[in-house]
Amino acid sequence: MIPAGAGTRITDMSAHPRHPTLPVRVGPVVIGGERPIVVQSMTNTDTADAEATAQQVRALARAGSELVRITVNSDEAAAAVPRVRERLEQMGVAVPLIGDFHFNGHKLLRAHPACAEALAKYRINPGNVGRGSKRDPQFAEMIEVACRHGKPVRIGVNWGSLDQDLLTRLMDENSRAAAPRSAQDVMRDAIVTSAVASAERARELGLPAERIVLSAKVSGVQDLIAVYRDLAARSRYPLHLGLTEAGMGSKGIVASTAALSVLLQEGIGDTIRVSLTPEPGGDRTREVIVAQEILQSLGLRAFMPMVVACPGCGRTTSTYFQQLAQSIEAHIRRRMPEWQQHYEGVEDMTVAVMGCVVNGPGESKHASIGISLPGTGERPVAPVYEDGEKTVTLKGERIAEEFQELVERYVQRRFARRSAA
Ligand code: SF4
Repeated sequence: MIPAGAGTRITDMSAHPRHPTLPVRVGPVVIGGERPIVVQSMTNTDTADAEATAQQVRALARAGSELVRITVNSDEAAAAVPRVRERLEQMGVAVPLIGDFHFNGHKLLRAHPACAEALAKYRINPGNVGRGSKRDPQFAEMIEVACRHGKPVRIGVNWGSLDQDLLTRLMDENSRAAAPRSAQDVMRDAIVTSAVASAERARELGLPAERIVLSAKVSGVQDLIAVYRDLAARSRYPLHLGLTEAGMGSKGIVASTAALSVLLQEGIGDTIRVSLTPEPGGDRTREVIVAQEILQSLGLRAFMPMVVACPGCGRTTSTYFQQLAQSIEAHIRRRMPEWQQHYEGVEDMTVAVMGCVVNGPGESKHASIGISLPGTGERPVAPVYEDGEKTVTLKGERIAEEFQELVERYVQRRFARRSAA
């Protein structure tokens, strides 16, 4: 069974006071209200293919995604949503599903009540719900469906689809001002205004404040920081953070980390998504791991034992210690679902894998368990430290396997057994 929002906790919130927001319940998961920051992700399968979508949702949930968003863009996709939910239940996956709606969302929600019911939250983009005179009634229809089904809504503005009428109006007003602001400032203002005004409109239509989440995604790091600071100052709705179109590989990871870290450190943000473009054939779950690593690096949540490894240098002329660091990391990731079920607090463990005696023993002593491998020209032995004390020295061909066994025994001995539910 993969429970929704399970297995993780806050580590040191006292150092990070949060911007106060209202708690919003999404199925069994709560966003905002000083709850732990929620990790979410999005599928890239065709939702009409219920089996492929359910399998990807399962993979994302297994990786730690606490909410998963799926595209609902056609009658076929909307009809498949209840089947995706059903398939997930069969597989024991409880993660809440969020429906991503754009131009035809009002029609799909009206025509497919089972889809409206199966979803735990709707994402509505106010810039994409319809043009001109159609916009307000179509937005209203989606909000009315949310009210009828008791579902929360994320009002998700994206600068790539910003309400052009609003932007034009603000640009015109700005051009008549005595001291006009820059076009970039007006654009940022339009993004925030669109989110806040749409939330107020949703409330006038009967959606309670405790069912509204806001986001205002842009693709520039400085723009994102400015927009969310303003959004936090102008509302008490929980905020979904994410840099849109962050990109591929290290560029996407670095840009997302830079933007999100500044805001999270200021206490802004209640749920995050890292929008990475996967390499062709790449693993979609990478975005979940990066989101977790951002939160864990900031000390906001603990998900996974940390592997501390030195970068290596001229003292490590073989790749042995890199392979050991990699195999330990993979071992921990593989074992974590089971450890989490049985051992309380195992996510706080730190494991050091160091390349030589210069910093090796010191770093190992600071870790829960650490190994210091021999550097070039050093004696072929690897001292192991547990809770600051040297416990054993490994040597020979099986250092990697023996260290994994020591980590396994350390977990069993050091972390209290969870009582059976
Ligand atoms: S611990 Fe040793 S091998 Fe690792 S970076 Fe420092 S000096 Fe180099």
